[in-house]
Amino acid sequence: MFISGVENADTMLLVSRTAEFDKSDPTGGVTLFLVEDPAERDAIDLTHVEVELPWFEKQYQVDIDGLRVTEDDVLGTVDGGLYLLWDTLNTERIAGAASALGGGLRAVDLAVDYANDRNVFGSPIGSHQAIQHPIAESYAKLTAAREVTYKAAKLWDEGEECGTEANSASLLTSEFGLEAADRAIQTHGGNGFTPEYEVFDIWRNLRLTKTAPVSNEMILNYLGEHELGMPRSY
Ligand SMILES: Cc1cc2nc3c(=O)[nH]c(=O)nc-3n(C[C@H](O)[C@H](O)[C@H](O)COP(=O)(O)OP(=O)(O)OC[C@H]3O[C@@H](n4cnc5c(N)ncnc54)[C@H](O)[C@@H]3O)c2cc1C
Repeated sequence: MFISGVENADTMLLVSRTAEFDKSDPTGGVTLFLVEDPAERDAIDLTHVEVELPWFEKQYQVDIDGLRVTEDDVLGTVDGGLYLLWDTLNTERIAGAASALGGGLRAVDLAVDYANDRNVFGSPIGSHQAIQHPIAESYAKLTAAREVTYKAAKLWDEGEECGTEANSASLLTSEFGLEAADRAIQTHGGNGFTPEYEVFDIWRNLRLTKTAPVSNEMILNYLGEHELGMPRSY
């Protein structure tokens, strides 16, 4: 479900269980396959899924029945795909965090511009702390989230373990970015709901980052278990 842009993909990364789940080797039994031209294959059915996002990409339910793959299509090793997949998940989280950070900082910029321009009862609304402080706080939170994002990217570039930083960056940029967008909407009053002022679209895009590509609950599960050493909760 929700496979983005598959109708334009030259190649699809297919994650498949190829051996029964074995509790003594929970990371084994999954193989990655590269499937060329997925939209052209008879064995692959694409059904468009509507989502409430101002997006350039379409989403699809992908049903696969009777797809033939060969050894040449295997990425990595048979039954050893999860290790490779984890490497790609960290980069996806770092890239997602950078994107959420950009959205959040853009919301702050737009809120500042509007707060300086809009005069109500003879003074710019940005002169009131009820408007100014939330924007300033969002700026501070996003600046801190940016440091974690940069740290994750640097560790990944250096080939170091970066799971904790990549997950933390994704969590913090989504929470702080979304909050900044919400505050930007509030700053814009009624104009916050019009397409002309952009902030509502930023909010809708940032809302997705709490759920995809990984939900914030699953990030907290990861941190609780792998970083803090608490029992697996699911
Ligand atoms: C617009 C969009 C684009 C997407 N693009 C892609 C794509 O290109 N490729 C792709 O593979 N996927 C894609 N996804 C899917 C996305 O990664 C999943 O929707 C997301 O990871 C959540 O999984 P789920 O929908 O199965 O939710 P579920 O697993 O059903 O979870 C539902 C809710 O319960 C919570 N929950 C579940 N289990 C636990 C637990 N153990 N502890 C605490 N909370 C829990 C979740 O965090 C979530 O809030 C996309 C989704 C959307 C909306």
